Amino acid sequence: MDNVLVENHEADVTVIGGGGAGLAAALSASENGCKNIIVLEKAGIGGNSSLAHDVFGTESPVQKRMGVDARKDDFFRIAMNWAHWSKINPRVVRAFIDKSGDTIRWLEEKGLRFELGQYYVNQSPLVRHTIAGEGAHLMKVLKKLCEDVGVRLLTQSAAKKIVRDGNGSVKGVIAESKDTKLVIKTKSVILATGGYGANPDFLKKSPYYNPDTMVNHGVRGNKGDGIVMATEIGAATAGIGNIMFHGPSAPRSAASLMKLDDNEYPVSILIREPETMWLNKLGKRFIDEGHNLSSFASAGPAAQQPGGVMFTVFDDRTRQIMEEEGIIWPGAYGGQKRETKKHTRPNVGEPLPGLGRELRILQEKGVALKITDSLEELAAFIGAKPEVLKNSIEEYNASCANGHDAVFCKDRRYLLPMATPPYYAIRGAAGICDAIGGVKINEHMEVVDHEENAIPGLFAAGSTTGGWETDNYCYELTGHLLGFALNSGRIAGENVAKYLL
Ligand SMILES: Cc1cc2nc3c(=O)[nH]c(=O)nc-3n(C[C@H](O)[C@H](O)[C@H](O)COP(=O)(O)OP(=O)(O)OC[C@H]3O[C@@H](n4cnc5c(N)ncnc54)[C@H](O)[C@@H]3O)c2cc1C
Repeated sequence: MDNVLVENHEADVTVIGGGGAGLAAALSASENGCKNIIVLEKAGIGGNSSLAHDVFGTESPVQKRMGVDARKDDFFRIAMNWAHWSKINPRVVRAFIDKSGDTIRWLEEKGLRFELGQYYVNQSPLVRHTIAGEGAHLMKVLKKLCEDVGVRLLTQSAAKKIVRDGNGSVKGVIAESKDTKLVIKTKSVILATGGYGANPDFLKKSPYYNPDTMVNHGVRGNKGDGIVMATEIGAATAGIGNIMFHGPSAPRSAASLMKLDDNEYPVSILIREPETMWLNKLGKRFIDEGHNLSSFASAGPAAQQPGGVMFTVFDDRTRQIMEEEGIIWPGAYGGQKRETKKHTRPNVGEPLPGLGRELRILQEKGVALKITDSLEELAAFIGAKPEVLKNSIEEYNASCANGHDAVFCKDRRYLLPMATPPYYAIRGAAGICDAIGGVKINEHMEVVDHEENAIPGLFAAGSTTGGWETDNYCYELTGHLLGFALNSGRIAGENVAKYLL
């Protein structure tokens, strides 16, 4: 930056990133006695946290009121077994899970309200605390509380560099705000810059990332800046390349909306229907389409298929059943209807009158779906060799006839043959919910170097950190991305206070 204005600030705590982790950290630092706190936020307050819906929690007041027995120990074991006790730090996981119920209390005391809900069919015990008003409301409340206690929120201010003194302790942050250089003399830094879903260079560290098919559903400013700044001053990293895929879904656009009665539903509501076949672009099945373990458990396998694409395929009889009897899993939410500003999802079993007509309209509009009587044309749309597609269908139809899927063990209730033309294929791909892994931390949310020594005065929280989740979202801990952000933020705030006071 040439010919820039320079603005000097002083702080005891500088939080970098104004998402859930950053604001929880700032508030927690304040509640634990820190006085002079700045939050630097590249864009406006919110981050991916403002797009989320739910927070993980165990032994929370909500669960106690509803008689739900969801124990910390059980979920710690689930998390560690999920990761095969490797790649993640059990002490970090323990610190997060132990805090999670208390964080729901903390948020309730701040006026937030939660309901318990399923994320996948038959999920039990319930740990998914859906936020009344969703993440946007959560962030509004946290922002107001920060302002009330005097935290200075410097928005449109991107941190660029962390400076250490001769002893290695953090002493400053350099940031930029339009044409102004911000020089912040600070005693400590909490990094909370979120993930790197908007940075292909980092995303490429995942073997499953495909820039042609995968859309980042998060904010555009999350580019892994915290990882860059921390590693420049000696921080170690953990788990970079852990993309939390969700979906799969059809490309989102106004054109992909189906007008059914008074409702508008995206064609994606059909993508995960268990009575369909899911094929990769070679024309081969790759999954038990009837597994009911959440959109994360479907998206990961879809992301790993050649070209990162999958096709949901069904025949006209299945289309008719969906039209008359509704669908079984309307989207990602375990059968629960979910209202959003953009669209609604149908209830389980709600008839979809006009489905066949709408699919034809979508095909005419150029949405990535095909309706045809010809298996050769279907194969051409998918990009598969016709004989491979035909073999897959024959094998699948035999499973339907036998009532036993000898390959993927799909529940026989969902085995409907591909026998009645026309045939339908809808193209889908996994989307990026968040891309996590990054700065290595210990259970106090201190950033550590390659010898596991804490870098004095440097803390980190939320998706900019790594070592608490693998490359596959543990759906049993539903809501643990925002959950980790809020809990690790609180823990970082407590420990920055111990460091300073
Ligand atoms: C559509 C969607 C739905 C989701 N739903 C859920 C859900 O229901 N439950 C769940 O658990 N998780 C959900 N997630 C994931 C979850 O939202 C995130 O993992 C979590 O909120 C991350 O919080 P964070 O504070 O670490 O990052 P963020 O909330 O993303 O905040 C990071 C902030 O840092 C800022 N920043 C970046 N670089 C700089 C810099 N150099 N200087 C200053 N500021 C910077 C960014 O602008 C951003 O505001 C969802 C994600 C998406 C995209």
